[in-house]
Amino acid sequence: MTKSYNHPKGLMALFFTEMWERFSYYGMRALLVLYLTSTLISGGMGMGRSNALEIYAVFTGLVYLTPLLGGLLADKYLGQRKSILIGALLMAAGQFTLAYSQVAANLPERENLLYYGLGFLIMGNGFFKPNISTIVGQLYQENDPRRDSGFTLFYMGINVGAFISPLIAGTLGEKVGWAWGFSCAGVGMLLGLGWFISQASKLGTAGLPPKRVVAKNEKPILKASDWLGIIAITVTTLILVVIFLNTWSLLGKQPRSTITTIATVIGATALLYIILSNTKGKTQWSRVAVIFVLCSFNVFFWAGFEQVGGTLNLFAREKVNLMLGNWEIPVTSFQSIGAIAIVIFAPLFSILWSGLSKIKANPNTPVKFVIGLIFLGLGFVVISLANNLANNGLLISPLWLVAVYLLHTFGELSLSPIGLSMITKLSPPKITSIMMGVWFGSTALANYFAGMLETILQRHLPGMHLFNFLVITSFSAAFVLFIISPILKKMMKGIH
Ligand code: GLN
Repeated sequence: MTKSYNHPKGLMALFFTEMWERFSYYGMRALLVLYLTSTLISGGMGMGRSNALEIYAVFTGLVYLTPLLGGLLADKYLGQRKSILIGALLMAAGQFTLAYSQVAANLPERENLLYYGLGFLIMGNGFFKPNISTIVGQLYQENDPRRDSGFTLFYMGINVGAFISPLIAGTLGEKVGWAWGFSCAGVGMLLGLGWFISQASKLGTAGLPPKRVVAKNEKPILKASDWLGIIAITVTTLILVVIFLNTWSLLGKQPRSTITTIATVIGATALLYIILSNTKGKTQWSRVAVIFVLCSFNVFFWAGFEQVGGTLNLFAREKVNLMLGNWEIPVTSFQSIGAIAIVIFAPLFSILWSGLSKIKANPNTPVKFVIGLIFLGLGFVVISLANNLANNGLLISPLWLVAVYLLHTFGELSLSPIGLSMITKLSPPKITSIMMGVWFGSTALANYFAGMLETILQRHLPGMHLFNFLVITSFSAAFVLFIISPILKKMMKGIH
């Protein structure tokens, strides 16, 4: 494969596709809770805080749960490329539906559109998110030493998108009108889709459906029959989305537990069956076990980290002095701090890991996770202090939040790209996308907790403040993982 800047050409195709997709996702996410809780008069949905946080929890949970399905379909039938195309179309539809939810005629119609928009995003992300990361892994040979740094570059693409979108889509939504913000996110997704289609030939054979081998001089771009397939599957998915959403809006009014339990049992059984039938031999089993252990610690990390779009977003609106002279800082722009910090610090972390590698001191994957959890805990120490100050009635300086986001970014860089890379290294090759789905599935659980934790604590541990609780969970998880890290390292069977 041709190299550019010492990485496969396809990396840039994926970098910008993911950049635009994350532009779309994070622009929408910066607005979501604010849109839900803003008054009807200001064009918002007029919901209460806990109701909005619950929708945020269920939505961001499901967004990361459907990658299991998207991963499965890609590994078995579609290949990653088609899945990405379908996902992008669905997500663009979702953003425009959300935009329309602001301007529709009456409240029930607006609520329906809101749920439909979120539903399209949930399904679309399932097709898109695991598969784009899997293709990155496919650009590299098995023991290619560039893999981790390729993932770190890719992670920068994610965060370039995540940085600019709250500033553009977020500010448009907050200051001009919610519909403008969501539409801007939709346009971003379409730009990503266009870029991906135009760059597909740079991917070589990566991401094609299983077993299809491309002849030497055949251009691996999509043929008419592929397009027909894509349209057929998109239409089928749209029908599924409608059925799903009708069920979901029913769920809002009735007890959720039965349907959720049935879906969980069916899903878990299918997943287990697929993993069982595709994992062979002691080495593969041992590595799959490590994936599951690390995924469970991943839950602790993201349950804290993802406060960013929920309680930390509301904290910025309610407790931070937003006036800079005569200018009021848009609340959504705080969402960009972590992302720009990633773009700045990712190369440093990349250099740090390879420098440490040269002197044989590069921490192994579980230890990098420990470092990630420690930074997360430190961030919550800072926000707890800030919260105590704010409780005295003062609006606090925005620099407190900057410090929290910086610490959380250091944590994210130690854990998140390393986790993606780890999945592509440890998975049995035939089910890499499915295992990527497992990784994002653990994030799903974490996102759900992230949104629900405040309510859960108020109900069961009323004396405990959310931020203090997260200090305890982050440090405890780091401690336990550190203790078991030598065992995990052995179980990785030669992979660092
Ligand atoms: N910030 C990263 C992304 O958007 C990781 C998200 C996650 O795993 N929760 O891809």
